[in-house]
Amino acid sequence: MRIILLGPPGSGKGTQSQRLMQREHIPQISTGDLLRAAVASGSELGRKAKAAMEGGRLVEDALVLGMIRERLREDDARAGFILDGFPRNLTQAQALERLLKTLRQPLDAVVQLEVDNAELVRRISGRRTCADCGRVFNVSTSKAELSESEPCSTTGLPHRLIQRPDDNEATVAERLRVYEEKTRPLIEFYRERGLLQTIDAEGEVAEVTERLERALHALPRVAAPPRRAAKSRKPRRAAARRLPKRAPAAKRKRAARVVRATAATRVARAAAGRVRGGQRRTRRRGSARRGRR
Ligand code: ADP
Repeated sequence: MRIILLGPPGSGKGTQSQRLMQREHIPQISTGDLLRAAVASGSELGRKAKAAMEGGRLVEDALVLGMIRERLREDDARAGFILDGFPRNLTQAQALERLLKTLRQPLDAVVQLEVDNAELVRRISGRRTCADCGRVFNVSTSKAELSESEPCSTTGLPHRLIQRPDDNEATVAERLRVYEEKTRPLIEFYRERGLLQTIDAEGEVAEVTERLERALHALPRVAAPPRRAAKSRKPRRAAARRLPKRAPAAKRKRAARVVRATAATRVARAAAGRVRGGQRRTRRRGSARRGRR
């Protein structure tokens, strides 16, 4: 299954991707997580991305696209993927379309998570992430004690909850504005391609997961287009028969000529074989006659 989760900050893309990843056994690819890891590692990519992220603006397309190209070519992405936070503008959506065509991995669906703006702000201000395993909790919506009852899957110790530096009021306002201006147009982009599904993403986390699963399982799966056939070693006659009806007239005529020529050769060869066979038979009959004499 190859899907995109589309929605404003705080709509639950990350939370739902993590749950879907466990159920469907396909990786979550979050450009936000990849960028945060790059910033934490101090890499050149991280240094270039840091200022935009802290300001709630989009990181440069070239950086994000380079990162996604590499990630989608990794082995685990062959079974499918959940894109979370990517694409975020039309340039990225068009580049993704080209990339997936090259990889022969068409999208199955784009699910838009719909949440009211006031609820978004409430969620973002209560959001906390475990600094070690990256799991997301929400002190205002999910049971806060969950983070205490379950140990961290990385350290085995209690989760170390931190607030993301860009989850402050001013940055959140800018992120919501950027979503409206740059990302919302993607809803139309994917609707036009017949890929868009919209679900109500308010309510309990588990309820939203159920709606998401229902939307995804109602979908017909998009089969990957077949690989272009390697040059056939079969006779040209067979290739000619396989020509689709809409092949240009000249090509069809040429193919028909090949079929006729091949058929004529077969007749001629068969005739030659009959002559040779006939001679053999005559000789055998002759010798048999001689033997009887
Ligand atoms: P959210 O969806 O809550 O805004 P993310 O973790 O997806 O959070 O993204 C955090 C930040 O990382 C964004 O505000 C932006 O600066 C940067 N970012 C993430 N994905 C992209 C992307 N596809 N293109 C450009 N910038 C991105």
